[in-house]
Amino acid sequence: MQKHADFVEFVELTPSAEVRVARHGWRAKCLQRLIRLDLPVPRVVALPCESVRAIVAGQMPDTRAIAARFGPDFLVSVRSSPENPEWGGPGTVLNVGMNDATHAKLVESHGREAADALYLRFVQNYATHVARLDPDMFHDEPGPEALARALAAYEAEMDEPFPQDAARQLAEVLRSMARAWEGTTARLLRQAKGAPPEAVLGLVVQEMALGIGPGLSGSGTMQFVDAVTGQPKITGRFRGQSQGRRASVETLYLTRDPRGASLEEAAPELFEELRHYGAACRRKLREEMQLEFAVEGGRVSIIDAVRVARSSRASVKIAVALAEDGVISREDALLRVEPRALSELLHYQVDPRAPRDRLARGIAASPGAATGKIVFTAAAAQASAARDEPCILVRRETAPEDIRGMHASVAVLTERGGMTSHAAVIARGLGLPCIVGCSDIQISSRDRQLRAPDGRIFREGEVITVDGTNGEVLVGVAEMLEPALDDGFRTLLRWADNVRDIGIRANADTPDDARTARMFEAEGIGLARTEHMFFDEDRLTLMREMIFADTANDRRIALERLLPMQRADFMTLFDIMAGSPVCIRLFDPPLHEFLPHDREGMRELAEALDRPLSEVTRRCEALSEFNPMLGMRGVRLGVTVPEIYDMQARAIFEATIEASRRGAPVVPEVMIPLVSAAREVEIVKTRIDAVAAAVKTEMKAEFTYRLGVMVETPRAALRAGEIAEHAHFLSFGTNDLTQMTYGLSRDDAGRFMNTYVNQGVYAEDPFHILDVEGVGELLLIGAGRGRGARQDLTISVCGEHGGNPESIAFCRAAGFDYVSCSPFRVPVARLAAAHFALLAPRGRSAP
Ligand code: PEP
Ligand code: MG
Repeated sequence: MQKHADFVEFVELTPSAEVRVARHGWRAKCLQRLIRLDLPVPRVVALPCESVRAIVAGQMPDTRAIAARFGPDFLVSVRSSPENPEWGGPGTVLNVGMNDATHAKLVESHGREAADALYLRFVQNYATHVARLDPDMFHDEPGPEALARALAAYEAEMDEPFPQDAARQLAEVLRSMARAWEGTTARLLRQAKGAPPEAVLGLVVQEMALGIGPGLSGSGTMQFVDAVTGQPKITGRFRGQSQGRRASVETLYLTRDPRGASLEEAAPELFEELRHYGAACRRKLREEMQLEFAVEGGRVSIIDAVRVARSSRASVKIAVALAEDGVISREDALLRVEPRALSELLHYQVDPRAPRDRLARGIAASPGAATGKIVFTAAAAQASAARDEPCILVRRETAPEDIRGMHASVAVLTERGGMTSHAAVIARGLGLPCIVGCSDIQISSRDRQLRAPDGRIFREGEVITVDGTNGEVLVGVAEMLEPALDDGFRTLLRWADNVRDIGIRANADTPDDARTARMFEAEGIGLARTEHMFFDEDRLTLMREMIFADTANDRRIALERLLPMQRADFMTLFDIMAGSPVCIRLFDPPLHEFLPHDREGMRELAEALDRPLSEVTRRCEALSEFNPMLGMRGVRLGVTVPEIYDMQARAIFEATIEASRRGAPVVPEVMIPLVSAAREVEIVKTRIDAVAAAVKTEMKAEFTYRLGVMVETPRAALRAGEIAEHAHFLSFGTNDLTQMTYGLSRDDAGRFMNTYVNQGVYAEDPFHILDVEGVGELLLIGAGRGRGARQDLTISVCGEHGGNPESIAFCRAAGFDYVSCSPFRVPVARLAAAHFALLAPRGRSAP
């Protein structure tokens, strides 16, 4: 290997030494910072990554020169120092330099037992990690003969005595650590943690602080926050005489503790000193650090400091506390919390430390975890809820008639479906943990049982846990962590709102959804799907009467009875949202979804409508379609059966006047689904304008409203220019738009999505992560043509992608006004949007 002119094999860490993270690694840099803070750090020499690379290539640094830095009683540790601590690296080797001479000196100063124990541990480590000998041969407990046996075993295996030359020991340790970094497993492990293939390693050689000796001696760790909650709390351990003298080994609590002796009581000044160092690190390193320290005869050394490992909730708490104490800026605090981690705070989670008995794995469709008894039908779920028994609805897939069963359940599991299947969308809206596409299980609703891939059978009433965060179905009860919507969480999100530059609304259909949206401080409702409002028992019958009406007049009569119910629905939404925008989507699904699917249901319907069964059967058959998702739904119903939209528009406007009279003024947004032609909008708009005019006259009141179009067919995106002439806003329904762009059923894609993603056909599930190349291009075309025709056009996304950080980045860069997502995804979206605003200020970003 060629040396550069400025090649320096190693550098001693002093306050002014030139040390860089990219060259010497995070640990070397961190140790230098501790030295600059005047902390008592034992002498350190850092080897830059070029030296470590050179070692792998067979060119050793001058280990004698390194050893010389540490004086005659050379005893050091060697630790890895990659650029990022997450990337791991070979384990630390302690007590390098230990030989017969040092041992003899230690016997003098610290006693034979301590000296033997130190030497033995080093021989064991060296033999197994450096000389790569069989660990079983060195697996000896400390004792009077153990050291001699280990030295003899080494000599027998290696055909030479244990190396006595400290510089040679150091060279071998450096070589073995440098090579370990290049190993395939190490490489794969760090790449899984985000390390680039070319990631390099630095090494640090540090004088040993033994932590043994007369007086108070030992070693330990100390941190100043709780790793799970993030609350201020001193935790860690201190082991007295920890490197030897087994008889006197004693573990002390750090702080006063009724269970036993503590460092705080045994050595209050030393304890204070450590606390002081901790505070200095927090202030100057701008982070909560865990200190590793040693004490020799009452004197403290700080050996190392690492960032405290933390849970998601602790990361929020710590970031906010650091900013509130003026240690970091609010912007830094925002950037220190990974947006996706917030969703863990909103729900119960299976405690990661608890054991798991996995029954099956599927697509993690809605986060959080819940435990309950298995039920196989919506009716059983409702019965279970009535008995106050938490239940989990297990279905092959769910349909609109299951919604009440879903409401009654604590979690949902389906055999089929993908990220935007019915079960997934509704569960996310309800904040219910949900797993879909769990194709390894077999459900037999008839036998009321579920068969796991390993053959175990689970019957109705047996308890399982759905971990919707990881997509795992677990057997029985699991230990849980509670949600954490505390002050820190709210404060962080308020800061996020101050910097983000794209709006975040929520998709909310029910009063509960709307309240959740408010709780998470969404800026309004971006999509209220109205069809779910018609599945209640009393409304369903009226809907069916309306569907079966023979004349427009009969239909109007049925709809008139639905009107007050629908008006009440909207009034509640307007009241809850207190003047924030509410975007109501007119009726979307095919009508046959409201009809019974089996003979029994049809018989009941015939009875309720007082019509012959044959007629009911015939009408139901007549309404069924080969491709209902591409059939008579959305605006197509609005054009062909206009009375439904008339009723809905009237309900919206009457509720607007009512709600505005008693609260904040409401400007409703009315959205037309599944548009593919401008003429559809024109036709519907004319009727809605007429209804608005009629309501104004009848109620002697004024209001304004905004009419918008849901762009969810490719044609609507392509023709957005002419469509925008009739609309105040366009909202991209990326669920249907993805379905139609790919020609891929959103309800069936789960069956093969895994195979497709695994084989790299799709980089990601496009129903989960917006396909920026295909669907994204349609969004850009639609937005560009829409704005071209109408500058003040509001543009948004209301498909499930709206809650996904990558999709938010795309929409923001494309200049969209807002995204709308399930209420429980709003916090993640708010923080993600803030990240993008901080990392790529507008104007510099591009889609
Ligand atoms: C969509 O298609 O993206 C959408 C939001 O509507 P829905 O999911 O109700 O079809
Ligand atoms: Mg849609």
